[in-house]
Amino acid sequence: MFGKVLIANRGEIALRVVRSCKELGIKSVAVYSDVDRESLHVAFADESVCIGPADSGKSYRNIKNIIAAAEIAQADAIHPGYGFLAENAEFARICEECGFTFIGPSSEHIEIMGNKSTAKKTMHKLGVPVVPGSDGPVKTINEGLELAKEIGFPVIIKASAGGGGKGMRIAGNDITFRNNFDLARGEAGQAFGNDEVYVEKYIESPRHIEVQVFGDHYGNALHFFERECSIQRRHQKLLEEAPSLGVSDKLRRRMGDISVAAVKALKYRNAGTVEYLLDKNGNFYFMEMNTRIQVEHPVTEMLTGIDLVKLQLSVAAGEEFSLKQKDIKMQGHAMECRINAEDSVTFRPFPGTITAYNAPGGYGVRVDSGAYNDYRVLPNYDSMIAKLIVLGKNRTEAIAIMRRALDEFIIHGINTSIPLHKKITEHFAFVDGTFSTDFIERYFA
Ligand code: ADP
Repeated sequence: MFGKVLIANRGEIALRVVRSCKELGIKSVAVYSDVDRESLHVAFADESVCIGPADSGKSYRNIKNIIAAAEIAQADAIHPGYGFLAENAEFARICEECGFTFIGPSSEHIEIMGNKSTAKKTMHKLGVPVVPGSDGPVKTINEGLELAKEIGFPVIIKASAGGGGKGMRIAGNDITFRNNFDLARGEAGQAFGNDEVYVEKYIESPRHIEVQVFGDHYGNALHFFERECSIQRRHQKLLEEAPSLGVSDKLRRRMGDISVAAVKALKYRNAGTVEYLLDKNGNFYFMEMNTRIQVEHPVTEMLTGIDLVKLQLSVAAGEEFSLKQKDIKMQGHAMECRINAEDSVTFRPFPGTITAYNAPGGYGVRVDSGAYNDYRVLPNYDSMIAKLIVLGKNRTEAIAIMRRALDEFIIHGINTSIPLHKKITEHFAFVDGTFSTDFIERYFA
């Protein structure tokens, strides 16, 4: 096992990794930007190194500074968390070249999956069902239009390099397709520095279901069931749960088997998430694969009782799985609310100082957060400030625990998404579980 791990991230996920390192007896090194000096991940890590100014391009995304910090601290390995450099193939390669184990998949796998259009092609070849659409990037409006007519409207134009719900446009007919094609390309170029787009069938009212997978260095692959992520706003997840009410035991086995087979065929190692859309008829289609630990990983940890970050560390250190698929069991129902610092009307980020903070506790409750009393939510970074995760013996109990935990969650000084989560968890369509990805748009717009 590693002696020392540097965590190339901030906030709750950096703290999350520090915690697993501590329990495994691994020394942790936090990195921080000027403005993050007072952060919990810095306070609780064994060592810390300042890597630059607030602008993440100059600090958390600055490969040179992070490698220099790892050298100064004499770390053995680097955990990238999620976001920032987590899915940057070049960063993974440089880590390895400089003698630091990258805690994640190989740079080749990050590269393949980083381009959504290439990822789709790759998975299709491996026998994973994919959303009908272009077999690779679409270069011109006419090429796109022809394809759209073939697969049938509505279609969705998506950025190959897209992520975080950005770079997607829906077209219902020729005219909207013409209007949206160049817009999508322009947006993709602006946001991702790559204007390549592809086109696929727009699945109406699907569920977003993802499968947590893992591979080790010995060709073994496991899945940890699904997560239901259909409660989204502008294609961004707000609340996740597992298991999904939309997935039967039989479907769960099929989705798990197909995902594991792909991981094996790819010789993929470490944690990954295979994202699917599930239509009303129970058909599922691959959308993309995320080659990192996800924000919502605690849902799966609570459901299965397995620490996925510890598993990431042990796989990266070259250990073989000590688990078999049959050892992984669902132990109730888990749910997570993402607590964002946001304006309740515009949903824009709401930075500011937290003047009073009380995190909920009690049976079945877990809070992953870097926030505390007097903590300043900075405008420079992501607005998610806490994750509230609960485990109940069934879904009804999980919802009851979540509601009372939301009531106990006090954050003053800034606006947060707590009131929205209270409404969601009270809503009849949420409670009866008949929702799809249009839930928020339909009931809360
Ligand atoms: P990102 O990487 O930006 O998160 P995804 O490809 O994961 O983008 O898609 C995000 C969300 O967009 C999905 O969860 C779903 O709600 C919606 N979406 C994406 N592709 C389609 C599609 N073909 N049909 C319907 N909805 C889609």
